[in-house]
Amino acid sequence: MTLDPLPETDLTRHRRLRDQGSLDRADLNAILDAGFVCHLGVVIEGRPLVVPTVYGRDDQELYLHGSVASRSLSGGVPVCVTVTHVDGLVLARSVFEHGVNYRSAMIHGEARKVTDPEEKLAGLRRLTDHATPGQWSYARSPSRKELAATTLLALSLEEASVKIRSGPPDDGDGPDAGLGLWAGTLPLTSVWGAPVTDPVLPGETPVPEHIARREGTRYA
Ligand SMILES: Cc1cc2nc3c(=O)[nH]c(=O)nc-3n(C[C@H](O)[C@H](O)[C@H](O)COP(=O)(O)OP(=O)(O)OC[C@H]3O[C@@H](n4cnc5c(N)ncnc54)[C@H](O)[C@@H]3O)c2cc1C
Repeated sequence: MTLDPLPETDLTRHRRLRDQGSLDRADLNAILDAGFVCHLGVVIEGRPLVVPTVYGRDDQELYLHGSVASRSLSGGVPVCVTVTHVDGLVLARSVFEHGVNYRSAMIHGEARKVTDPEEKLAGLRRLTDHATPGQWSYARSPSRKELAATTLLALSLEEASVKIRSGPPDDGDGPDAGLGLWAGTLPLTSVWGAPVTDPVLPGETPVPEHIARREGTRYA
């Protein structure tokens, strides 16, 4: 399926390191699907607050949740959400050319509070299954009281940007190439570990398949 490219707006247009930008919505989706933690930036009482939080998504919107008491989840105000995956260090000949190989996404917009009960449950399901596919069906569903204590925000994925850097340092063909120094990249990967069973569980409780199968697989 061909996806519409990301629109370039005044907010999303890259001004520096433009060659690392991508307008491919598939790149945005891949970055969002590779992780489950974002940083939500919002101005509260005149001061910026950047809050790490988990997310889920569908084709149109990103979902964020938290306590109804959370000031960062008020909705209806401009926010900026980033998702970042670090793929390695770029160790160049000169300190100036050092960098990071990464995939990152930035989403701008005004999040809306989801109030319709069915939509709220569907959004929370997306969010839960985004981090751990299959977990919504396995775990107990939220009670009415728990739902009432939870805010769910939906943020449109329309105004979003992507930046990706990969490959070796940029100074391999410059004057510093003759210095005789080692240069290259130091890749970084994260891998899911073995599930650690809650010590208070009865011994016969098996690790569910949807959790067990992630051991040894790559994160992000
Ligand atoms: C792990 C990591 C480490 C980095 N380290 C450095 C560093 O040390 N120094 C440095 O100068 N840069 C670094 N960058 C790149 C940095 O994120 C910015 O892209 C770059 O600095 C340009 O910033 P700017 O304020 O000029 O953005 P502008 O180009 O003015 O931003 C305009 C618009 O471009 C989009 N945009 C900008 N940056 C990103 C991004 N990273 N991902 C998605 N969309 C984006 C946004 O929509 C933004 O509103 C790093 C990026 C990552 C992911």
